[in-house]
Amino acid sequence: MVENQYFSEDKKKVKKSVGDFKCGGCGANLVYDPNTHKLVCNHCGFTQNIEINTFVAERDFSELSAHKFGQDDKVKTVTCTNCGATEILKNDEIASRCPFCSSPLVVNESEIDSVKPDSLIPFMFDSKRAKEHCNNWIKSRWFAAHAFKKELKLNNPNGIYYPIWTFDSHTMTTYQGRLGKTYTTTHTDSKGHVHTTTHVRWFNVDGTRKNYFDDIIINASGFVEDRTISKLMPYPQNLYTVYSNEYLAGFLANHYTVDPFTAFKTAEDRMRETIKQEIIRSYNADRVDYLNMNMVHNQKSFKSMFVPIYLTGAKYKEKFYRQYINGATGKILGAYPKSIFKISLVILLILGLIGVIAYFALTR
Ligand SMILES: [Zn+2]
Ligand SMILES: [Zn+2]
Repeated sequence: MVENQYFSEDKKKVKKSVGDFKCGGCGANLVYDPNTHKLVCNHCGFTQNIEINTFVAERDFSELSAHKFGQDDKVKTVTCTNCGATEILKNDEIASRCPFCSSPLVVNESEIDSVKPDSLIPFMFDSKRAKEHCNNWIKSRWFAAHAFKKELKLNNPNGIYYPIWTFDSHTMTTYQGRLGKTYTTTHTDSKGHVHTTTHVRWFNVDGTRKNYFDDIIINASGFVEDRTISKLMPYPQNLYTVYSNEYLAGFLANHYTVDPFTAFKTAEDRMRETIKQEIIRSYNADRVDYLNMNMVHNQKSFKSMFVPIYLTGAKYKEKFYRQYINGATGKILGAYPKSIFKISLVILLILGLIGVIAYFALTR
């Protein structure tokens, strides 16, 4: 693990804003090209390699102690006038629009405290391919309204680096409780009817359990719902790259709104739930009277990460249908108007099927 590199010589580099990459040929801004993984100039075609570093270190949790938090980095941001989304400000692109709601962004004069990002997953394909891919995806949705598919005009996808926290921990849990296992007995009465009774056999348990959690991912911003983030998973670990400003050139980066301490509490809840389920399973139990658990962390670490998401969507009958595309794997999650005709058809088929089953059951 690389210790404290974020607090010493790296400090000066941080001050240099993202987006300072000038073309060696014509002086225009270079942008990251996901297809070649290079910086390119869209004016003269100049390209520049990016030094790729995939050794992503985890940071020990002690680096987040209250007095250090906030000294890590300071960033200037732009905020959406409509929905409040905050993007990290890059020098030359002030006039951009909010990727979430398309309203104008305004520059915040003051710098805000920030934990420096440790790593990111670069975009693996460009916005043009994202659009084609999403077009095909919608057109292949059987339930989507025919007119929507036919007139489909997707917005040009906005590539956004979206912030997440990842946590690792070696945990040790001592527990004590009372669990139960259900079982049934049957008896036949004098009239020959069979009766089934359900019973619970209760037993006391106690013990300790060791668990290792690797990369528990917690949504760090409220602008994409947790549900959406988890459905866009996975973000493959083999694509983790050490954070470098080059990858952000030409893209937006959403600043986190959930601080790492709050995020860790959510991660802890998830760990506790996993451990609880494992304990219950280990006793082959299916009832819990009570289960007291005391979980301690040995060696917990964290990373601040950006994952690539393309946001796009299309309007249909005055309603906007949003699509999210995993910028690394191409997985799509999106809304679209459903065909009333096809839904009715399926309901009729199901009702018909129930009718047939009922008919046979009653006439047996
Ligand atoms: Zn150029
Ligand atoms: Zn907005």
